[in-house]
Amino acid sequence: MNNLTGNMDALDNTDRIYFAPLLPWQKVLWLQLTERVLKQQSLPHALLAAGMQGMGKRAFVWRLVAWLLCRERGTHPLGACEVCESCQWLKSGTHPSLQVLPLVSMPISAESDALQEKSSSTKDKKRR
Ligand SMILES: [Zn+2]
Repeated sequence: MNNLTGNMDALDNTDRIYFAPLLPWQKVLWLQLTERVLKQQSLPHALLAAGMQGMGKRAFVWRLVAWLLCRERGTHPLGACEVCESCQWLKSGTHPSLQVLPLVSMPISAESDALQEKSSSTKDKKRR
C-alpha cells in the first residue's frame, strides 16, 4: 500500500507539486541551475535527483520543470509565475510540452524488489 501511495505522488499533477516552496537546503542548487539556464541557455543533457528520503527531491524536480516551461521565468527567478499560459497548462495537466513516462517504464526500485520477494516467499509457503 505504501508503494501505491508513493506512486500516486509521482503522478501528482496538481499545482501543489509544481509550485512547492523552495526548501532552504535546495537554494544553492536552484541558483546554480537557474542561473545556468538564464545565462547560458543550457542545462546538462540529464539530471539525476538522488538523496535521502524526505528531502524534497520530487517537489524540487517538478518545481524546476514548471520554471523551465514558464514563459515568465526571466522575471521570476525563484519559481514559475503560476499565471502565464504555460503555468495554467501545468495546473490543468494539459501542457503540450510535458510528457511524463508511465510508472511501468520506470526501473524497479529496491522497495518493489523487496515486495516481490515477500510475495514470492508467501507463495512458496502456501505450496508447502
Ligand atoms: Zn508561468
